[in-house]
Amino acid sequence: METWVERKQAVLRTAKKAYREKLMAGTSGNMSVFIPERGYMIITPSSYDYEIMEEKDMVVTDLEGNMIEGCHRPSSEWRMHAEIYKSLPHVRAVVHTHSPYATSFAVNHQEIPVVLIEMIPFLKGKIEVSAYAKQGSAQVGLNAVEILRRKNACLMANHGVVAVGESVESAYINSVYVEDTAKIYYMALTSGRPVVIPGYEE
Ligand code: 13P
Ligand code: ZN
Repeated sequence: METWVERKQAVLRTAKKAYREKLMAGTSGNMSVFIPERGYMIITPSSYDYEIMEEKDMVVTDLEGNMIEGCHRPSSEWRMHAEIYKSLPHVRAVVHTHSPYATSFAVNHQEIPVVLIEMIPFLKGKIEVSAYAKQGSAQVGLNAVEILRRKNACLMANHGVVAVGESVESAYINSVYVEDTAKIYYMALTSGRPVVIPGYEE
Protein backbone atom coordinates (compact mmCIF):
# COMPACT_ATOMS: atom_id res chain seq x y z
CA MET A 1 0.00 0.00 0.00
CA GLU A 2 1.39 3.39 -1.01
CA THR A 3 1.81 6.06 1.66
CA TRP A 4 0.34 9.57 1.31
CA VAL A 5 3.81 10.93 0.66
CA GLU A 6 4.35 8.41 -2.15
CA ARG A 7 0.98 9.29 -3.69
CA LYS A 8 1.72 13.03 -3.53
CA GLN A 9 5.13 12.39 -5.09
CA ALA A 10 3.53 10.41 -7.91
CA VAL A 11 1.12 13.27 -8.72
CA LEU A 12 3.96 15.80 -8.55
CA ARG A 13 6.30 13.68 -10.70
CA THR A 14 3.59 13.20 -13.33
CA ALA A 15 2.63 16.89 -13.38
CA LYS A 16 6.25 17.93 -13.93
CA LYS A 17 6.72 15.29 -16.63
CA ALA A 18 3.56 16.42 -18.47
CA TYR A 19 4.78 20.02 -18.32
CA ARG A 20 8.25 19.03 -19.57
CA GLU A 21 6.66 17.08 -22.42
CA LYS A 22 4.70 20.24 -23.36
CA LEU A 23 1.29 18.70 -22.77
CA MET A 24 0.33 21.92 -20.99
CA ALA A 25 1.54 25.50 -21.25
CA GLY A 26 1.91 27.99 -18.41
CA THR A 27 -0.09 26.78 -15.42
CA SER A 28 -2.81 25.06 -17.46
CA GLY A 29 -3.81 21.45 -16.80
CA ASN A 30 -4.17 19.59 -13.52
CA MET A 31 -4.13 16.06 -12.16
CA SER A 32 -5.25 14.04 -9.18
CA VAL A 33 -5.42 10.61 -7.57
CA PHE A 34 -8.35 9.32 -5.54
CA ILE A 35 -8.05 7.40 -2.26
CA PRO A 36 -11.39 5.55 -1.98
CA GLU A 37 -10.85 4.31 1.62
CA ARG A 38 -10.89 7.94 2.76
CA GLY A 39 -12.95 9.57 0.01
CA TYR A 40 -10.16 12.10 -0.55
CA MET A 41 -8.30 13.21 -3.64
CA ILE A 42 -4.75 14.55 -3.89
CA ILE A 43 -4.87 17.28 -6.54
CA THR A 44 -2.46 19.85 -7.99
CA PRO A 45 -2.77 23.45 -6.74
CA SER A 46 -4.52 26.08 -8.91
CA SER A 47 -2.48 28.39 -11.18
CA TYR A 48 0.83 27.20 -9.79
CA ASP A 49 4.15 27.13 -11.66
CA TYR A 50 5.03 23.49 -12.43
CA GLU A 51 8.75 24.26 -12.31
CA ILE A 52 8.68 25.26 -8.65
CA MET A 53 5.91 22.86 -7.55
CA GLU A 54 6.89 20.59 -4.65
CA GLU A 55 5.28 17.71 -2.78
CA LYS A 56 4.16 20.10 -0.01
CA ASP A 57 2.16 22.10 -2.60
CA MET A 58 -0.21 19.20 -3.31
CA VAL A 59 -3.74 19.75 -2.00
CA VAL A 60 -5.98 17.15 -0.34
CA THR A 61 -9.76 17.64 -0.55
CA ASP A 62 -12.86 15.53 -0.26
CA LEU A 63 -15.24 15.18 -3.21
CA GLU A 64 -17.26 18.18 -2.01
CA GLY A 65 -14.21 20.45 -2.21
CA ASN A 66 -13.59 20.66 1.54
CA MET A 67 -9.89 21.24 2.23
CA ILE A 68 -8.31 18.43 4.22
CA GLU A 69 -4.66 19.41 3.78
CA GLY A 70 -2.61 21.98 1.90
CA CYS A 71 -1.56 25.61 1.77
CA HIS A 72 -2.95 26.46 -1.70
CA ARG A 73 -6.31 26.50 -3.44
CA PRO A 74 -7.02 23.19 -5.18
CA SER A 75 -7.20 23.17 -8.98
CA SER A 76 -10.15 25.22 -10.23
CA GLU A 77 -11.26 22.01 -11.99
CA TRP A 78 -11.62 20.05 -8.72
CA ARG A 79 -15.36 19.64 -9.47
CA MET A 80 -14.54 17.91 -12.76
CA HIS A 81 -12.19 15.50 -10.96
CA ALA A 82 -14.78 14.91 -8.20
CA GLU A 83 -17.62 14.17 -10.65
CA ILE A 84 -15.47 11.62 -12.45
CA TYR A 85 -14.58 9.82 -9.18
CA LYS A 86 -18.22 9.92 -8.01
CA SER A 87 -19.54 8.37 -11.24
CA LEU A 88 -16.74 5.96 -12.20
CA PRO A 89 -15.54 3.78 -9.30
CA HIS A 90 -12.85 2.05 -11.40
CA VAL A 91 -11.04 5.37 -11.94
CA ARG A 92 -8.24 6.16 -9.48
CA ALA A 93 -6.52 9.02 -11.31
CA VAL A 94 -7.41 11.90 -13.65
CA VAL A 95 -4.96 13.78 -15.88
CA HIS A 96 -6.19 16.94 -17.60
CA THR A 97 -4.00 18.64 -20.22
CA HIS A 98 -4.29 21.30 -22.90
CA SER A 99 -1.92 19.46 -25.24
CA PRO A 100 -1.86 21.41 -28.51
CA TYR A 101 -2.65 18.92 -31.30
CA ALA A 102 -5.44 17.27 -29.32
CA THR A 103 -6.83 20.62 -28.19
CA SER A 104 -6.97 21.84 -31.79
CA PHE A 105 -9.39 18.97 -32.51
CA ALA A 106 -11.32 19.88 -29.34
CA VAL A 107 -11.63 23.43 -30.67
CA ASN A 108 -13.03 22.02 -33.94
CA HIS A 109 -15.40 19.69 -32.03
CA GLN A 110 -13.88 16.98 -34.21
CA GLU A 111 -13.50 13.40 -33.02
CA ILE A 112 -10.52 11.26 -34.03
CA PRO A 113 -11.33 7.87 -35.60
CA VAL A 114 -9.40 4.67 -34.83
CA VAL A 115 -6.39 5.16 -37.09
CA LEU A 116 -3.63 3.81 -34.81
CA ILE A 117 -3.29 0.47 -33.04
CA GLU A 118 -2.51 2.01 -29.60
CA MET A 119 -5.95 3.60 -29.58
CA ILE A 120 -7.58 0.19 -29.12
CA PRO A 121 -5.92 -1.07 -25.87
CA PHE A 122 -5.13 2.32 -24.31
CA LEU A 123 -8.01 4.58 -25.29
CA LYS A 124 -10.68 1.92 -26.04
CA GLY A 125 -11.49 3.23 -29.49
CA LYS A 126 -12.04 6.55 -31.19
CA ILE A 127 -11.48 9.81 -29.31
CA GLU A 128 -14.80 11.56 -28.78
CA VAL A 129 -15.52 15.17 -27.81
CA SER A 130 -17.56 16.01 -24.71
CA ALA A 131 -19.96 18.95 -24.84
CA TYR A 132 -18.71 22.39 -23.85
CA ALA A 133 -19.22 23.52 -20.26
CA LYS A 134 -17.96 26.52 -18.34
CA GLN A 135 -14.47 26.13 -16.90
CA GLY A 136 -14.52 25.00 -13.27
CA SER A 137 -18.13 23.78 -13.31
CA ALA A 138 -19.27 20.30 -12.30
CA GLN A 139 -20.85 20.07 -15.76
CA VAL A 140 -17.35 19.82 -17.31
CA GLY A 141 -16.95 16.54 -15.42
CA LEU A 142 -20.52 15.33 -16.00
CA ASN A 143 -20.18 15.84 -19.76
CA ALA A 144 -16.85 13.98 -19.81
CA VAL A 145 -18.28 11.11 -17.73
CA GLU A 146 -20.77 10.36 -20.54
CA ILE A 147 -17.77 9.33 -22.67
CA LEU A 148 -15.40 8.10 -19.94
CA ARG A 149 -17.92 5.36 -19.00
CA ARG A 150 -16.74 3.69 -22.23
CA LYS A 151 -13.34 5.26 -22.88
CA ASN A 152 -10.09 6.05 -21.05
CA ALA A 153 -9.87 9.58 -22.45
CA CYS A 154 -11.79 12.22 -24.36
CA LEU A 155 -11.47 15.71 -25.75
CA MET A 156 -13.43 18.48 -24.02
CA ALA A 157 -14.93 20.98 -26.45
CA ASN A 158 -12.98 24.26 -26.68
CA HIS A 159 -10.83 23.20 -23.76
CA GLY A 160 -8.48 20.22 -23.80
CA VAL A 161 -7.99 16.58 -22.89
CA VAL A 162 -9.06 14.49 -19.92
CA ALA A 163 -7.64 11.00 -19.40
CA VAL A 164 -8.33 8.50 -16.63
CA GLY A 165 -6.65 5.39 -15.28
CA GLU A 166 -6.14 3.04 -12.35
CA SER A 167 -3.02 5.03 -11.45
CA VAL A 168 -1.69 8.48 -12.26
CA GLU A 169 0.97 6.80 -14.41
CA SER A 170 -1.63 5.02 -16.56
CA ALA A 171 -3.86 8.12 -16.84
CA TYR A 172 -0.76 10.04 -17.95
CA ILE A 173 0.14 7.48 -20.62
CA ASN A 174 -3.43 7.68 -21.91
CA SER A 175 -3.13 11.48 -22.17
CA VAL A 176 0.15 11.04 -24.08
CA TYR A 177 -1.55 8.69 -26.57
CA VAL A 178 -4.33 11.22 -27.12
CA GLU A 179 -1.78 13.87 -28.08
CA ASP A 180 0.32 11.45 -30.16
CA THR A 181 -2.78 10.26 -32.03
CA ALA A 182 -3.97 13.82 -32.68
CA LYS A 183 -0.54 14.82 -33.98
CA ILE A 184 -0.23 11.82 -36.31
CA TYR A 185 -3.84 12.16 -37.49
CA TYR A 186 -3.25 15.84 -38.23
CA MET A 187 -0.13 14.97 -40.25
CA ALA A 188 -1.98 12.21 -42.09
CA LEU A 189 -4.83 14.60 -42.92
CA THR A 190 -2.39 17.09 -44.40
CA SER A 191 -0.54 14.48 -46.49
CA GLY A 192 -3.40 12.27 -47.66
CA ARG A 193 -6.60 10.54 -46.61
CA PRO A 194 -6.29 8.62 -43.32
CA VAL A 195 -7.71 5.09 -43.33
CA VAL A 196 -9.60 3.78 -40.29
CA ILE A 197 -8.49 0.37 -38.93
CA PRO A 198 -10.80 -2.31 -40.38
CA GLY A 199 -13.58 -3.26 -37.97
CA TYR A 200 -13.39 0.06 -36.12
CA GLU A 201 -15.39 2.20 -38.55
CA GLU A 202 -17.95 3.01 -35.78
P1 13P B 1 -5.89 25.21 -12.53
O1 13P B 1 -4.55 25.88 -12.59
O2 13P B 1 -6.85 25.89 -11.59
O3 13P B 1 -5.76 23.73 -12.27
O4 13P B 1 -6.60 25.38 -13.97
C1 13P B 1 -5.97 24.97 -15.14
C2 13P B 1 -6.94 24.46 -16.16
O5 13P B 1 -6.57 23.70 -17.00
C3 13P B 1 -8.34 24.93 -16.12
O6 13P B 1 -9.14 24.19 -16.99
ZN1 ZN C 1 -8.13 23.12 -18.48
